[in-house]
Amino acid sequence: LGPSEQAVLEKIDEQNIDFLRLQFTDILGTVKNVSIPASQAEKAFEDGIYFDGSSIDGFVRIQESDMRLKPDPETFAVLPWRTREDEEEGGAARLICDVINTSTGEPFEGDPRHVLKQALDRAEEMGYTVNAAPEPEFFLFEEDEDGRATTKTNDAGGYFDLAPKDLASDVRRDIIYGLEDMGFEIEASHHEVAQGQHEINFEYDDALSTADNVGTFRTVVRAIAAQHDLHATFMPKPIPRINGSGMHTHISLFTEDGENAFHDGDDEFDLSETAKQFTAGILEHAPALAAVTNPTVNSYKRLVPGYEAPVYVAWSDRNRSALIRKPAARVPSASRIEARFPDPSCNPYLAFAALIHAGLDGIEKGLDCDDPVRENIYEFDEAKREEYGIDTLPSNLGDALDELEDDDVVLDALGDHVSEKFLEAKNAEYDDYRVDVSDWELDRYLEKF
Ligand code: GLN
Ligand code: MG
Ligand code: MG
Ligand code: MG
Repeated sequence: LGPSEQAVLEKIDEQNIDFLRLQFTDILGTVKNVSIPASQAEKAFEDGIYFDGSSIDGFVRIQESDMRLKPDPETFAVLPWRTREDEEEGGAARLICDVINTSTGEPFEGDPRHVLKQALDRAEEMGYTVNAAPEPEFFLFEEDEDGRATTKTNDAGGYFDLAPKDLASDVRRDIIYGLEDMGFEIEASHHEVAQGQHEINFEYDDALSTADNVGTFRTVVRAIAAQHDLHATFMPKPIPRINGSGMHTHISLFTEDGENAFHDGDDEFDLSETAKQFTAGILEHAPALAAVTNPTVNSYKRLVPGYEAPVYVAWSDRNRSALIRKPAARVPSASRIEARFPDPSCNPYLAFAALIHAGLDGIEKGLDCDDPVRENIYEFDEAKREEYGIDTLPSNLGDALDELEDDDVVLDALGDHVSEKFLEAKNAEYDDYRVDVSDWELDRYLEKF
């Protein structure tokens, strides 16, 4: 065993850990767990843990189902809500794993974490490391008597509101303690625009750690909300006609000597040519990217004008109606772009991989970025959008999937295995939605016709 594996074994001992949860993520972004007694840790590091991949969504066919989990020792973290008050019983910790194909011994190409690692390899070949920071938003809803989620909020706060309106701030405080216990550096937290809606920001990291963190974040938020008898949801638009939940994603590239490749102090926007080309790449592939960054039927109920979510394919140095915004940066190292279209129903590994490949494609092709749009694009009519050459995002999941099917850069970002399984699962999801009859239709038509 290497030194980082040894260090984990020591922590297991010191911190009285009885169980290890080995985690990985399926193609649809669901975190999966295999629990092992802590006594098996050494064996898990040495040989990996075998499991049947055919029972995991979008992984493999039955006849090629043997997979092996290889725990990444850097991801060891004690699960605070599983740690017992009484010292007799030990606690639980998690390790995030890479998935290995047992027949080849190679990384399994259907593992989303591997897909992101490949995007980072391409960046590295071009001389860059990638930093990312997401801003996941979520709602806290009350549970009914049976413990099922409702869409009733337990507060009536608004953006940055404080107590007494923000009754949920106690819950948010406990969530933050839980996240800090798991090693998160929390930068800020606030009540979001909608009632019952919250945002907690954590510090940026390399894109792989950040994608790992998104999965952990969702798990911690849900677990601690549940302790308060609340249901936390990352569904993009749980309530119509008020703000939905986004997962704005801040990205920057750094060079090998630690310089921010996105910063240029001589530029009007402090953005380098590289940053602009990267932005142009994302804008160019945005309609296909949406299928990955906004992968649910419900995602497209959020991407409508008027609720601070982007609809139009443009960038801006101030305006929040654009797809990409250049946030103000206090220091050169903080120059970055903010992709505002992703939402927290995405698989973070696949979403980051797709965004990175699209951006790198922009750099490789030397794509030009148009001027930023400073007006509120929500207020543009079609003629004005045409004059500015502004496209719109797909208006539903079906159209986004069609765009994805035609975009080789984004398909290549996912790789053959994942793109095939992803399209299959998502087309089925969209078809299922298409044949359904909604409450809206019944309300509107049942008695009218
Ligand atoms: N909730 C908005 C969205 O859907 C963002 C609001 C904000 O962060 N100011 O993206
Ligand atoms: Mg924010
Ligand atoms: Mg926000
Ligand atoms: Mg933001």
